[in-house]
Amino acid sequence: MPSQEPHNSPLAPPPLSRDRSLDDSLQFIKGVGPQVAEKLLKLNLRSVGDLLRHYPKRWEDRTHFRSMSQVRSGEFVTLCGHVIAVSTRYTHQKMAITEALLDDGEGAVKLIWMNQPYMEKTFRGFASTQKQIVVYGQTKREGYSGSSYVLEMQNPEWEELGEDGDTLSANRITPVYPATEGLRQGRLRKMVYSTLQEYAQYAEDPLPPATLLQHKLVSVQYAIQNIHFPDSESDRQSARRRLVFEEFFILQALLALRRRANSHDVQGIPFSTTLEELQQTLANIVPFTLTNAQQRAIAEVSANVTSGYAMNRLLQGDVGSGKTMVALAALLMAVKSGYQAAIMAPTEILAQQHAIVMQRLLEPLGINVEVALGSLTQKRKNALKDRIITGLAHVVVGTHALIQEGVDFAKLGLVVIDEQHRFGVLQRQALALKGARPHILVMTATPIPRTLTMTLYGDLDVSILDELPPGRKPIKTHWRNQEKREQVYRGTQTLLDEGRQVYVVCPLIEESEKLQAKSATQLAEQIAIEVFPQYRVGLLHGQMRPDEKEDVMAQFKAHTLDVLVSTTVIEVGIDVPNASVIIIENAERFGLAQLHQLRGRVGRGEHASYCILLADPKSDDGRARMEVMTATQDGFRISEEDLRLRGPGEFFGTRQSGIPEFSIADIFNDMDILAETREAAFQLVEADPKLTRPEHQPLRRAIEKMRGKMGLMSVS
Ligand code: ADP
Ligand code: MG
Repeated sequence: MPSQEPHNSPLAPPPLSRDRSLDDSLQFIKGVGPQVAEKLLKLNLRSVGDLLRHYPKRWEDRTHFRSMSQVRSGEFVTLCGHVIAVSTRYTHQKMAITEALLDDGEGAVKLIWMNQPYMEKTFRGFASTQKQIVVYGQTKREGYSGSSYVLEMQNPEWEELGEDGDTLSANRITPVYPATEGLRQGRLRKMVYSTLQEYAQYAEDPLPPATLLQHKLVSVQYAIQNIHFPDSESDRQSARRRLVFEEFFILQALLALRRRANSHDVQGIPFSTTLEELQQTLANIVPFTLTNAQQRAIAEVSANVTSGYAMNRLLQGDVGSGKTMVALAALLMAVKSGYQAAIMAPTEILAQQHAIVMQRLLEPLGINVEVALGSLTQKRKNALKDRIITGLAHVVVGTHALIQEGVDFAKLGLVVIDEQHRFGVLQRQALALKGARPHILVMTATPIPRTLTMTLYGDLDVSILDELPPGRKPIKTHWRNQEKREQVYRGTQTLLDEGRQVYVVCPLIEESEKLQAKSATQLAEQIAIEVFPQYRVGLLHGQMRPDEKEDVMAQFKAHTLDVLVSTTVIEVGIDVPNASVIIIENAERFGLAQLHQLRGRVGRGEHASYCILLADPKSDDGRARMEVMTATQDGFRISEEDLRLRGPGEFFGTRQSGIPEFSIADIFNDMDILAETREAAFQLVEADPKLTRPEHQPLRRAIEKMRGKMGLMSVS
């Protein structure tokens, strides 16, 4: 550490007797008056601890600057030199272009600013005082000038080297902070530096000593010193690793505590069926052999519901992996144990479809399966409510109509929520509250990248269906430009002639459901009249009445329709094995996860299946998405790509994502550390389930802080 900072200012040190804490207001730091405090507030910095955890966004190695003669075009670099020439010129459109030439003795770089003519004065000043200037930005090769080419850098970040004699900005690895207007880097650096001097020693380490030792982590004091002012790159890295570990560890410990509380402290309804009985019954009623993955998931569910503790399980499985059968097994256990069970689906079509399957398989066993839909008549609704409250209805399949006022169960023992990403946390809770601690199984076909599962659902038990039922053929996916439409239709015709069925998905119109319905109607007419006049074409969109939708779906299932022109209402869970082609119009408008779901409508039977993306993407991003779709069918890979392309916030929809914001950790690049902390934290909670040991008290306090930041994440 440089030791040049003076600490003997008469104004600065607070009385030594006072106990310092990182919760102290930043006003205790010298040089922080009300005005500066206000600026710090804009960066969300209130306490000393906040400032110490205001990590640099990057570091510049100012012990060695790159020689300008060796920098290549396109690099992001930090360079240092003297200003040797400055000028401003104006374009025809009266735009000011200011240029300054920065020279380090071996080469030069031209700095360029648009419409910032005041830069000229500032840089002329630097030229006359011979100050050394540090710049950061991306270089671009401009062309040859004399014998050598000139590099340019547009709108660089810049500062004077050792500004105001500031030794923190020169000759060292220098932190560069996310800054705010009116608070220059040099100032912020000094503030952080003196805060470190006065407070770093008081930082409380949330990580227990044993964890530090076992995972070879540096102390918190060392880490916060070296994340800001490292003496070497390796010091910086060990500081960063430790801080990332800490951030993940606290989250994982919180999740481990929740999970522990769910599975060990919350009494649940003990179902009385045994796994053997269940397997026997399933073998009798299910028309195919369950996959190993299905059997494993069913055994996991069975272990939960017979344990006497409440189940909180997430069932994850790609489209078509057969989640419904796992749900069915769970329902069966509930009913055989004398309880009611409910299964909630996001759309009426899907609820209907589940109801048909459940009725077909369960009613022969004397189990009553009922359907609760918003579209039922009042009279039928009331009758249904009666059957639910008296316990005559054993299994109730429904939409969100299930969670409405007045739907009361006699003895609700299990709640299954299908396609859970479609429901908010509160809706899920509302259904669970219809019973006294019913078991909960949530199912999702949005394959969540494992890293996110760990952070988002880390407090749930997770079962994964990582195997498709046998006989599935890969879905051949092609991306074609719109002009190839005729050719695509001709290919499709061949398959129709062979007796297959076809989905055509309309372009996505986000502005209005009405417009969407209109465009779907037009497309359906066109296809019925011009494209496939010899085939029966149906139409499905969100503006149709529920009974109309049902009717169309039933016809398509029964193969009295050959082609179904539809909006994305078919995205969720529709299952028609004879449909082997899906054509998606304007595919570039859909997100990756959505395309994957849509594609999952085909490839469900024994026929070779095709997904045609008709798209003329205009952006690189759009092209990247089409390429991912044609390259892979692995839902996990697709969702990782999706997450990469869109970022976690958008991936889940920011509002209810519940993804904690990390201040230093990065869920992509630090995956290994995340996995490491998960193990470590779960072990720690196993050993000290209530965190009562003295050495775990700082961790406990850190967890409480994080809990406050995270809000609702659990389903229970
Ligand atoms: P998802 O996981 O997308 O909800 P489904 O439960 O709808 O998948 O199952 C997809 C299709 O696979 C359905 O037609 C279902 O009957 C069938 N299926 C499920 N499990 C098996 C199995 N073990 N063997 C053969 N077909 C299966
Ligand atoms: Mg499903």
